[in-house]
Amino acid sequence: MEKRELLYSGKAKSVYSTDDPDLMVLEFRNDTSAFDGKKVEQLDRKGMVNNKFNAFIMTRLAEAGIPTHFETLLSDTESLVKRLDMIPLECVVRNVSAGSLCRRLGVDEGVELDPPTFELFLKNDALGDPMVNEYHARSFGWAEESHLNRMKELTFQVNQVLKAMFDQGGLMLVDYKLEFGLYKGEVVLGDEFSPDGCRLWDKETREKLDKDRFRQGLGNVVEGYEEVGRRIGVQF
Ligand code: UDP
Repeated sequence: MEKRELLYSGKAKSVYSTDDPDLMVLEFRNDTSAFDGKKVEQLDRKGMVNNKFNAFIMTRLAEAGIPTHFETLLSDTESLVKRLDMIPLECVVRNVSAGSLCRRLGVDEGVELDPPTFELFLKNDALGDPMVNEYHARSFGWAEESHLNRMKELTFQVNQVLKAMFDQGGLMLVDYKLEFGLYKGEVVLGDEFSPDGCRLWDKETREKLDKDRFRQGLGNVVEGYEEVGRRIGVQF
């Protein structure tokens, strides 16, 4: 496999083509952004930590029967993935209230949600990723009904697998965001799963060990990510 030209550079990752049209290289950078790119910093070792964290999670999810784009680790900061035709929606499941849900509905942080909620957001930085529903997605052609159903089914399956895994490490999976794409007609999990895109709290102390450390200026951001990784068995 030969890495070729840069296809796309996002806020935290860059994507390169390869000599195989079905495969791409994902490079995890140290760049860390929040508030739709208004706060950006370089955090030492974050690219490596997220790359290895994501590889570990994607492997566990694949073992549980969830189709993912992950193929293999290539280096400390690079992974080989399948090239998906991305669906421009973010799927968010919440087990506990936090973040935008609290701001939007005026509820306290930390309320257990039973059943967990499912939300869709349109990937559009200029609009601040607005919340949309399944009718918007279908009417505007962002995703068709069968694909939306599958995305929702897979997003909740991920919850079952990861809630149990983090629980064993003494952590609460508060919420998380997933992105999907199509590969040869099938809905497949893409993007990444790392503490950049989920909320993880210590079960006992409720200490935040995810990107809220960066959003809220709490410090020790990458140290928090590594702590979470160590507790679930990621080798950095
Ligand atoms: N999230 C993300 N990317 C986004 C928006 C949200 O990864 O562009 C994640 C976020 O880290 C959290 C979950 O999705 O784990 C729910 O985020 P929320 O809607 O509460 O928004 P936020 O408070 O992050 O603005």
